[in-house]
Amino acid sequence: MSKKTATEITNNIQDLEEPPPSNLAVLISPHLQKLAKTSPAVRKQFYPCDKERNCSSKAFIDPLLEDQFIKTKGLIHKYPSRVLIELTLTCASYCRFCTRRRMVSDLQKLQITEKDIDNMIKYLKKHPEINEVIFSGGDPLTVPQTLQLALQKISKLPSIRILRIHTRMPISNPILAKPDLLNTIAKINKEKPIYLSLHFEHPDELTKETIKLVKKIRQTGAILLSQTVFLKGINDSYEVLAKLFTSLAQLGIRPYYIYHCDPVKGAEHFMVSFIKEIKIMTKIRANLSGIAYPTYVIDTPNGAGKIPVPLDFWKFEKKQFADFNGKKIVVR
Ligand code: SF4
Repeated sequence: MSKKTATEITNNIQDLEEPPPSNLAVLISPHLQKLAKTSPAVRKQFYPCDKERNCSSKAFIDPLLEDQFIKTKGLIHKYPSRVLIELTLTCASYCRFCTRRRMVSDLQKLQITEKDIDNMIKYLKKHPEINEVIFSGGDPLTVPQTLQLALQKISKLPSIRILRIHTRMPISNPILAKPDLLNTIAKINKEKPIYLSLHFEHPDELTKETIKLVKKIRQTGAILLSQTVFLKGINDSYEVLAKLFTSLAQLGIRPYYIYHCDPVKGAEHFMVSFIKEIKIMTKIRANLSGIAYPTYVIDTPNGAGKIPVPLDFWKFEKKQFADFNGKKIVVR
């Protein structure tokens, strides 16, 4: 299937203005189109806008330098004990702030076959120091058969102890999750823990369809985590995030990470000031239960890892930080 242009893919979206040319196609599920009618926060995340054209010289195409660490098709080995596996570049809907917008939605660029999975297994066998596999993409839940195959094969490796799946499907198109996949997760989870990291940005995303699916996923026994990105004009307020994290904890989803938005070309307009983020997270830490509080991190633009950001309980330099290798980085 070739990469669809924004116009081809959006023919059925009635209230969409002409999107700016972009690597990232426009795909908005009927579930989100309906939600966007009443939620500006959802609309801003998925409907393209003219600001995508504005790129400063400080923005990156691949801010995390992932492409340099591809070891075999679909497998990125950047940190010693874990690998990221990209099973697809498709998602149930495309978020305009996506860090991987350089390639996400380019369906020709990555199609994973059984042979590719076997090559990944060969690599994992050669590297017994790797004990965790993170399935990502794109959204791995949009290719359930490939995900099931990869889970079944990779979970058999004795060196792999932790399996993690990153997905936004329960938010972006909850009707796509099929019982087959949930049964596989439940079965494998009995042998090895599966962590499902769900990507939430705003309380409006907790629709009755999403909550229903979250409850079904909980029945698989998988451990549910969340990740969130700070997004200007969408969730950069104490009230919004406090409501989101509290609701997630009440649903049995442990808020895990909140990120400073990466300086990605075409998505810089989503970036929130670092000082504002610290203020919000300090208030959240002071007021919410510890189990509703995610770690606030900045992903280093040179691909050296996620650095936790100290809060205003401490006095610290807010203009630069050092990465895990001691390299000084100026905050944007
Ligand atoms: S679901 Fe994830 S990979 Fe897909 S567009 Fe959104 S942020 Fe990017």
